[in-house]
Amino acid sequence: MARVLVVGGSYGGLGAAFALARQADGHRVTLMSGTDRFVYRPSLPHVAVGLREPGKVGRPLAPALARRNLEFVHDAAQEIDPEKRRVVGRKGEYRYDFLVLAPGVDPDWSALPGAPERMHTLLWMDDAVRLREAIARFNGGAVVVGVQREGAVLCPVYELPLLLDAELARRGLRGRTTIQVYSYEETPLALGGPSTSARAAEVLRRRRIGFVGGTQATRVEPDRVRLEHGAELEADLLVIIPAYRGKPVVKGLGGLRKDGMVPVDDHLRHSRYEEVYVVGDTVASDGPKTGRMAQQQGRAAAANILAALQGRRPCARYTSEYLCLLDLGAGGGLGFVRRPSPGRGRPKTYLSLSGRPLSWAKTLLERYHLSRLGPGG
Ligand SMILES: Cc1cc2nc3c(=O)[nH]c(=O)nc-3n(C[C@H](O)[C@H](O)[C@H](O)COP(=O)(O)OP(=O)(O)OC[C@H]3O[C@@H](n4cnc5c(N)ncnc54)[C@H](O)[C@@H]3O)c2cc1C
Repeated sequence: MARVLVVGGSYGGLGAAFALARQADGHRVTLMSGTDRFVYRPSLPHVAVGLREPGKVGRPLAPALARRNLEFVHDAAQEIDPEKRRVVGRKGEYRYDFLVLAPGVDPDWSALPGAPERMHTLLWMDDAVRLREAIARFNGGAVVVGVQREGAVLCPVYELPLLLDAELARRGLRGRTTIQVYSYEETPLALGGPSTSARAAEVLRRRRIGFVGGTQATRVEPDRVRLEHGAELEADLLVIIPAYRGKPVVKGLGGLRKDGMVPVDDHLRHSRYEEVYVVGDTVASDGPKTGRMAQQQGRAAAANILAALQGRRPCARYTSEYLCLLDLGAGGGLGFVRRPSPGRGRPKTYLSLSGRPLSWAKTLLERYHLSRLGPGG
């Protein structure tokens, strides 16, 4: 009986664990996570503006895993010792024959000096709840939402201000509020190709949301954010998506990229340790990263582990498209599909649509993801 240890209870880890559960009969599959809940991060902008309750966009991991005969350990990995094939956690030590690493990333604020207490971000539920409280207190003024270079999540940078626009209009505050977005992208949502970017630019223009492209913040001050090339934006409410860096726990693997991310081959396998697979945001890939990519990587890693368990060579390669669905607030939606996903060749836009059905699609996707993990609680 082989022991497969999956570290991380989000898209990447669950993608791998659920795929293993379907076929790894007779082997022991354990998922270890520092948090005991899955959080549906695409809904964090909705939590921030009060359209979702925090408790409704997450699910406890233990029952969802137990239903699939997977073992769950609520423990945070502190160190990986690939030579001895073991992971040291806070509560104990876990041995493995195969390891799937999906611990996500940490924010990297090192390039942004200033007054961090004045600033919000939107990476996890705590951030969303803190921002929600600030938005509830907000009584009009200047709002700025931006993303730093190497910030690998772009869609909420546009979704949040659009949802906020609708919410502030509902509260009668939009007339005395300015909303601005800054991004390292030259044009809004350039990631989705020219047609998507043109749609996004039109929506921002119509909703009176300013856009400053090709830049990032260099300093946060109590009432403003300074951007590259001397520009600055006044900000009473400031939300920044930071650059990403790898989690300290992966250091034991060695050979990391400068930003602490882990390089892998097309099979998601570590170059030195064949039994170690790395998936999700932790992978040293270029361009934006998404939950869908993490999930598909998790499934590919699982297929390769199953092949190895049957004495075959790994055969599943990670290929993925980049899919983005945005709720624009006020009933609108926007979505696009690009292939391949960023950093994997010259991408082409396969679909770029806007309209109410896209917003419904976003809600349906949320329900689908959460329902796979069982009832709320
Ligand atoms: C606001 C926002 C909106 C987004 N919207 C979308 C969207 O619409 N569509 C989309 O596809 N993607 C979206 N994304 C991106 C997506 O959420 C991430 O790409 C995805 O969550 C990455 O999954 P992951 O499994 O690699 O890691 P993460 O989601 O970062 O999860 C890491 C997991 O590992 C656990 N962990 C961390 N350290 C340890 C440790 N030392 N030991 C044990 N466990 C550990 C954590 O508790 C967590 O369970 C969004 C992201 C944000 C922030």
